[in-house]
Amino acid sequence: MSKKNGTEPTPEEKKLLAAWRTFFQKNCKADFAALATSEEDVWGFELQWSLLESHKGLGQSFLNDMEKCLHSGQIVIEEQFRNHNLKPRPIIRIVGISELHRYHLVDLRMRDRTRFLRFDAVVHSTSRAMGWLKRSAYTCNECTHEWVIKEALARARTKAEACPMCLRRGFDLLLEGAKREDLPDPRDIRMDLERNYYEDIQYIELFDPTCLSDEELPDDVPTITAVVSDEYVNQFSPGQCITVNALIGVDHLPSRDYIRDTRRILRLDIHSVEEGFSLHEE
Ligand SMILES: [Zn+2]
Repeated sequence: MSKKNGTEPTPEEKKLLAAWRTFFQKNCKADFAALATSEEDVWGFELQWSLLESHKGLGQSFLNDMEKCLHSGQIVIEEQFRNHNLKPRPIIRIVGISELHRYHLVDLRMRDRTRFLRFDAVVHSTSRAMGWLKRSAYTCNECTHEWVIKEALARARTKAEACPMCLRRGFDLLLEGAKREDLPDPRDIRMDLERNYYEDIQYIELFDPTCLSDEELPDDVPTITAVVSDEYVNQFSPGQCITVNALIGVDHLPSRDYIRDTRRILRLDIHSVEEGFSLHEE
């Protein structure tokens, strides 16, 4: 498994990949068999937290560095889907997260950013479905090297400046005594539109179940913005009661009118959704 710069995974990454492989082999054979006839494009592959937690450090790895843990899991599950000739593109959704992560929407404050938490929530409203450029792809016109840059949601796209290969080669050539005018031009690069990766997303406004009054959807209720992706897009409607497991992020005020506005709001980056409340009675 080579990474984009051609280096091998570190021993720690290898251990993580191996843990994911045995996890899927042990727990998911029946799921793979059941998906054999699926014609879906995207499949949210649900994994129970209780199984993950007890398997070779995967639970700890998820809590320490969710992105890294899921990235390894994604590599392995895509490999498993290929091996089983499954059509959909899988996405790992961990559900049944421990109650130790229980929190309430009304209690969220800035100090909670970067935490991974579990909430009961009611859907207030949903935005239109949209996409965002999650990874932009570049190609070097000099040496044909290809690379990707991870972007951040609702931030300015990262400006790609130069080909890392040509930069390195230029530096080596200089050390060998080459003249500047003979060096490759590392800025001769282009964005590779075909390889750009777009993710489907949707903004949904959520509110705390304690604000529910007599089955009526309240008009004036404090909401928090959440972002769902891929197979969750267009799956939720106002009034729906759900449990969300989400990473707490920070976003600009949607209504900011000057660019360096320092005010921020919290945003839930939703990892997984379960139907119904898990704490409150419906
Ligand atoms: Zn190059």
